[in-house]
Amino acid sequence: MDIPFLNLQAVNARYADDLKAAAARVIDSGWYILGQELAAFEQEFADYCGVSHAVGVGNGLDALSLILRAYKALGVLYDGDEVIVPGNTFIASFLAITENRLVPVPVDPDPVSFNIDPARVAAAIGPRTRAIMAVHLYGQLADMPALAELAGRHQLLLIEDAAQAHGASSGGRRAGAFGHAAGFSFFPAKNLGALGDGGAVVTNDKQLADRVAALRNYGSEVKYRHLYQGVNSRLDELQAALLRVKLKYLDEDIARRRQVAQRYRAGIHHPQIQLPSIPDEEQHVWHLFVVRCAQRDALQRHLQTHGIQAQVHYPIPPHRQSAYPALHDVHLPMTERLHHEVLSLPIGPILRDEDVNRVIAACQSFGGHV
Ligand SMILES: *Cc1c(COP(=O)(O)O)cnc(C)c1O
Repeated sequence: MDIPFLNLQAVNARYADDLKAAAARVIDSGWYILGQELAAFEQEFADYCGVSHAVGVGNGLDALSLILRAYKALGVLYDGDEVIVPGNTFIASFLAITENRLVPVPVDPDPVSFNIDPARVAAAIGPRTRAIMAVHLYGQLADMPALAELAGRHQLLLIEDAAQAHGASSGGRRAGAFGHAAGFSFFPAKNLGALGDGGAVVTNDKQLADRVAALRNYGSEVKYRHLYQGVNSRLDELQAALLRVKLKYLDEDIARRRQVAQRYRAGIHHPQIQLPSIPDEEQHVWHLFVVRCAQRDALQRHLQTHGIQAQVHYPIPPHRQSAYPALHDVHLPMTERLHHEVLSLPIGPILRDEDVNRVIAACQSFGGHV
């Protein structure tokens, strides 16, 4: 495959010297968990997001899960409370809800933005609804003004799953700064990726941040004194040090992703390929460039014969997964349709213009169209 979906080796090779220096600093320090690198990264990432607190955790799923766990511990959420969530998200958004014995209420997305549809959220609000989990899917901000209005009117928590949207912004406000709390992932392939697993909770709520910080560390604020029944989910010093390097280049990487997306949007004109449209450039950081095509599998095979690796995000929606038999009765027509039609083209900060042109040419030649 000469144009892989994402070449992580090439992504990180750009900063290899800085990454190795950061790793050496941690190795030589002799301190590997909950130290200065994490504290510095938490401050830098909170500043980047424009919030007062960031708490580094083990991964993006744990970030979302610990937000909900902390709200339960604080007496804001209770077993059986409902959380409205987009049906077409990655399964982690659902798992965070169900592992806290809360109930996911999936709703269909808007077919153009792929993001949760506020009108459908409004229709799904019932007496047990306590929270909305807004996912900034594929890197584009969900409709936060509409969701914030609904959350305010119905006294719901608004939680952002920002795992794909580091740096997406609207009116100068970045992902993570719109809701009561947000979860980020630093999985290596995310726009801000560690060299292993990592995640963070960000919030302006000090009480919530303190509780998440305790819960991630065995429910402890002071060593060997356990206030709460916590878990072990910490962002380690090595990953924090590596993320500090990569955070410096995040905005440059986003700018390059936007250029690639712009080229795709200018170059691909095919009657069978529907391009993503966006309301406003700054709202999208193009974690994924997702097109729709009724003959999706044929298009993916066609690109493959041209040496181009395209992927499907995601082939099966959470409510149709074997993991969730209780949700198999739920019917979400738009979600189910999108899962047959979406295809993600290669995108990333290291894709060269000639690669982008080859992807465009291959798309244009699909089905004999020229
Ligand atoms: C990646 C991702 C997560 C989970 O992050 P991990 O670090 O892999 O646990 C959650 N939600 C969405 C939308 C994601 O893309």
